[in-house]
Amino acid sequence: MLDNESTYSVFPESDERTSIEYTEVVLARLGEITLKGQNRRRFEQRLIKNMAHRLRRIGSFEVNQRHSRIWIVPQNEESLAAIDGALDIATDVFGIVSASKVRRFESDPDALRRQSIAYVAEEIKPKKGMTFKVETKRGNKQYPLNSMEISAEIGGDILAAFPELTVDVHDPDFIIYLEVRDEMYVYSKIVPGVRGLPIGMSGRGMLLISGGIDSPVAGYMMASRGVELEAIYFHTFPYTSDRAKEKVVSLAHLLTKYTGRIKLHVVDFTETQLTLNKLVPPEMMTLVMRRMMLRVAEVVAKQRYCGALITGESLGQVASQTMEALAATNSVVSLPIFRPLIGIDKDATVEIARRIGTFEVSILPYEDCCTVFVAKHPKTRPSLSQADEAEKKLDINYLVEDCINKIDTVLLKAEDL
Ligand code: ATP
Ligand code: MG
Repeated sequence: MLDNESTYSVFPESDERTSIEYTEVVLARLGEITLKGQNRRRFEQRLIKNMAHRLRRIGSFEVNQRHSRIWIVPQNEESLAAIDGALDIATDVFGIVSASKVRRFESDPDALRRQSIAYVAEEIKPKKGMTFKVETKRGNKQYPLNSMEISAEIGGDILAAFPELTVDVHDPDFIIYLEVRDEMYVYSKIVPGVRGLPIGMSGRGMLLISGGIDSPVAGYMMASRGVELEAIYFHTFPYTSDRAKEKVVSLAHLLTKYTGRIKLHVVDFTETQLTLNKLVPPEMMTLVMRRMMLRVAEVVAKQRYCGALITGESLGQVASQTMEALAATNSVVSLPIFRPLIGIDKDATVEIARRIGTFEVSILPYEDCCTVFVAKHPKTRPSLSQADEAEKKLDINYLVEDCINKIDTVLLKAEDL
């Protein structure tokens, strides 16, 4: 609990503290400092644009960049009240390494002292036995004290105001960060961001998304490298239920938390699937089905200016994900296929799925078409000629065309989450 007496010894008139003038802003720190020249500028411009766009749904914010940081400044009272939401959004925008909610006030030694004490009282709510330290960055070199001196002085003021606290410079319970620039800032929490590259910096990719754990994670990973996502799902109603489709829609929607928006193309795959069932040897079914999906996905990808296809495949996980099977799927498309999970084991994928919030939906028990139609003993090492042979009786062009004509597209937005 706060020791009132010690607090009010610093604020002799009780309403002085409430009259302290400050505003709250979000300070977000940029990553990938290894980027140079033109790339660096593109990185920053993209990031600012993405950030401003993502913030628009919760209020009116100005987004400025100075050095390797972004300042998010509320433009009115309602937006100021939404500052915690702005912090949440900022840490989910790719390119941000960390962010803090910061109190900003006029540059003045007395204000620094009073604001620091008020901050500790209101935001930390010190308790007996807690330890702290002060860390200062001084951008304004005109300021009479250097950063060490500022930390020592303000640390002393905080100790005097809160006798229940002690200083521990090695392992404190909280750190008071001060910045002395044209204006001054105080904050204590640094929230980690999602890092990566700003969405849109690396072109656009078409994610083959299913209801499983892997493909949403694969989409997230490519998005974190700056790829703007579109998604395509092959639906085999009634062999897979509409609830299975809803699950895929939910998963794609969850990804918009990081991407802003995603166009999801739902392909009615039933007729193609039934044709394959009739005309393809069972042990080759999974592979041929995958090849059909990729062919269709590539046509849609090219129409939508995507430069790559993305899947959740991981080497050796199932029969259709052997080196030979992957080679046989690659051979039917010309766009590169990005498989960010190729060298990652399931536990690591699950961990990412949990962190990004898709896991709980992915494990809902709705069948996917691969489990409905798959053979008991698929061929694990199909050669290219065996794969081509298995498709001999198919009118590939007709089937692809048929799928393209049966696409339903939905636009999913972060603001509707
Ligand atoms: P996931 O967990 O993503 O479903 P998985 O380990 O179950 O992957 P498979 O079912 O063999 O693997 O699918 C491999 C990849 O093929 C998926 O990660 C996804 O990219 C794509 N895929 C599978 N089924 C579909 C589908 N119905 N629609 C779109 N893409 C699909
Ligand atoms: Mg699957």
